[in-house]
Amino acid sequence: GKFNVALDGPAGAGKSTVARMVAKELGYVYVDTGAMYRAITWKVLHKDIPLEDLSAIADMTASTRIELLPGLTGQTVLVDGQDVTERIRSKEINLHVSHIAAIPDVRERLVSMQKSMAAAKGVVMDGRDIGTSVLPDAEVKVFLTASARKRAERRYLEMNASEISLDDLERDIERRDQLDRGRKVSPLRQAEDAVLLDSTEMSLDEVVNAVLELCRT
Ligand code: C5P
Repeated sequence: GKFNVALDGPAGAGKSTVARMVAKELGYVYVDTGAMYRAITWKVLHKDIPLEDLSAIADMTASTRIELLPGLTGQTVLVDGQDVTERIRSKEINLHVSHIAAIPDVRERLVSMQKSMAAAKGVVMDGRDIGTSVLPDAEVKVFLTASARKRAERRYLEMNASEISLDDLERDIERRDQLDRGRKVSPLRQAEDAVLLDSTEMSLDEVVNAVLELCRT
């Protein structure tokens, strides 16, 4: 029968690429939960909601429709029907997303959406708290990590290089990890039953095969 795969780890560890490839191999649905926090962050900024107005942000989140549509190279992200796929990857979103993701009402709403997306199984979900909070019963749990420099290099290749330098990106990634590890609600941490994979010296194919191997056992 079908099962669920939970893939957690710090920013830039390669989770989304690995999750997408594993999902494709298994014929499963890939769910990028970071994109959902980014989508809410985009709307906060777009609507000029003050970052400290937590109840306004919670209300907005409750009335926002987020759709993740599977595509060939990635997923298309729609917020209330509007395509924000590119815009949610900006430097500005990176700057604010960890603050928005630390708001309990925002997490509660997105986590409940994520649980229902995985209810029928056959999902590969990546994030920070999937193995610990969202899908504690996932059959396969992986915590994917790599050195901060390596993670910055990988993110750099994904981003608009004119927007940010590699050093800035490394600082941004470390700052975001600290916020994600330090927050009170569902901090980034490895689930006790997750398998740790350090991809610093591994190729993408090696990581994907290691995850697929865990799926077979
Ligand atoms: O995975 P990605 O880097 O796109 O996630 C962006 C941010 O969203 C993370 O730095 C984190 O603050 C937040 N996030 C989260 N929980 C998740 C996924 C992402 O708090 N499950």
